[in-house]
Amino acid sequence: MPSTFTHHFNTAAYKGTVAVPLGLYINGEFVDPVENGTLDVHNPSTGKIVTSIAAGTKADIDIAARAAKKAFKTSWGLKVPGAQRGKLMAKLAELMEKHIEEFAALDALTNGKAFKTAYGRDLKGAISVMQYYAGWADKITGKTIETNENKMAYTRHEPIGVVGQIIPWNVPMFSLSLKIAPALATGNTIVLKPSELTPLSALLFCTLIAEAGFPPGVINIVNGYGATAGQAISESLIIEKVAFTGSTLTGRKIMEAAAKSNLKPVTLELGGKSPNVIFDDADLDQAVKWAIHGIYFNHGQNCSAGSRIFIQAGIYDEFLRQFTEQALALKVGDPFDPSTFQGPQVSKTQFERIMGYISSGKSDGATVHIGGNRIGEEGYFIQPTIFTDCTSNMKIVREEIFGPVACVMKFTTEEEAIEQANDTSYGLAASVFTKDIDRAIRFAHALEAGTAWINCANQTEISLPFGGFKQSGIGRELSEYALENYTNVKAVHVNIGIRL
Ligand code: NAD
Repeated sequence: MPSTFTHHFNTAAYKGTVAVPLGLYINGEFVDPVENGTLDVHNPSTGKIVTSIAAGTKADIDIAARAAKKAFKTSWGLKVPGAQRGKLMAKLAELMEKHIEEFAALDALTNGKAFKTAYGRDLKGAISVMQYYAGWADKITGKTIETNENKMAYTRHEPIGVVGQIIPWNVPMFSLSLKIAPALATGNTIVLKPSELTPLSALLFCTLIAEAGFPPGVINIVNGYGATAGQAISESLIIEKVAFTGSTLTGRKIMEAAAKSNLKPVTLELGGKSPNVIFDDADLDQAVKWAIHGIYFNHGQNCSAGSRIFIQAGIYDEFLRQFTEQALALKVGDPFDPSTFQGPQVSKTQFERIMGYISSGKSDGATVHIGGNRIGEEGYFIQPTIFTDCTSNMKIVREEIFGPVACVMKFTTEEEAIEQANDTSYGLAASVFTKDIDRAIRFAHALEAGTAWINCANQTEISLPFGGFKQSGIGRELSEYALENYTNVKAVHVNIGIRL
């Protein structure tokens, strides 16, 4: 296996050469995997292999976890003041910014997302997240709590130790930053596994860690497959917490492995089947645009995608007309063409999964209003698709498709709308569109979801928590809330007068 991947981009959106090492990043250096495993990385625009990288297994996770444990005890954790941790994180953000185009190019190449989305949303977001938590690093505080006059008592929010983090492929660098930044700010050391589909940007990230000044072992990044490297993170006895973003199915396996090993706490950011409810009195033009963004942004590969669209009967026909017109105008094609909105789906497996859902929609009796087909013969491009005549028991309405497929349904009353919106095992996010402020707030409060958007969709704010109700997850990412995932609270009782 070569030790570096070099790719020359000569595209409309980005020109330049990007080189990344291919090893595992453990204890501050790139190393070969113990069992010499490899994994192939594909370009979803062509289906062809772009390179092969090192793939770690249990043995490598163990080495990485030991390095992280040593770093936690000797050169990070409570040994390093928060202000110093914050400085290193700010430096890391600065270096990410310096290489922003290279990161975006690697993610566009391996994920298939439009370069402009990778650059403008994922990377800008990832850098802002790192900066935001750099600011938190010296503001981790406990409380003094009054008990009685003979006791002084306070809490400390201490780092947990070595944390394991497992991320998906849909927003690779944003996910990486969301996981790493709060863990570093609170003083933990890290073993992170990127998705096997989009590992290259994480390898570029590894080249910046030592340059930013992090001691060896603080951040370890081990590429590999879920069933081996991922499972080893959840089962490790050295790793004391696991944070995961990905499918609900995998989330269950991780929780099970964590329970069977050392009962490590688990935070999960899982799937969704988010409702988007549009009332007759909504600003129709805006509601249509947000609904398009809600479902088709990032090729529908968003955990919070507004994939179930409920339209009140009075505007149903007009909404559908405008929604269809705009969906048909979305440009699907080369991720490196600046006019592209939607590139290929990430992989053959995802492509086949989505096409399978489209078939099931048809056989269950829904109508393909537009789309439903593959585009071209090479790569994994799918037409933006709208299903009408959907009913709540259909698979396409119940299950997460994670592709550019919208199910449009009609409702009459507010009671009916809330019942349908909440009729799902998921609870990640939901939107409501109406100009009636009373109804907007009443509806937002009645939604069973971790995020409720009023007159907008698919919005992320770094200072606001994000996470799921029901089977969409456990815990919150972003904002001050994410810090709770990475600290142990210790209560200290100081006896200043209790006599036995
Ligand atoms: P996935 O669950 O297949 O994989 C996610 C990660 O888990 C990958 O790194 C994979 O290698 C690893 N993994 C797989 N099996 C494992 C195992 N047994 N043990 C440990 N790790 C394992 O999900 P995906 O297909 O990569 O991502 C898509 C899913 O992620 C969707 O369901 C989507 O909704 C969800 N997602 C959720 C959020 C959120 O914030 N809630 C954000 C992005 C994606």
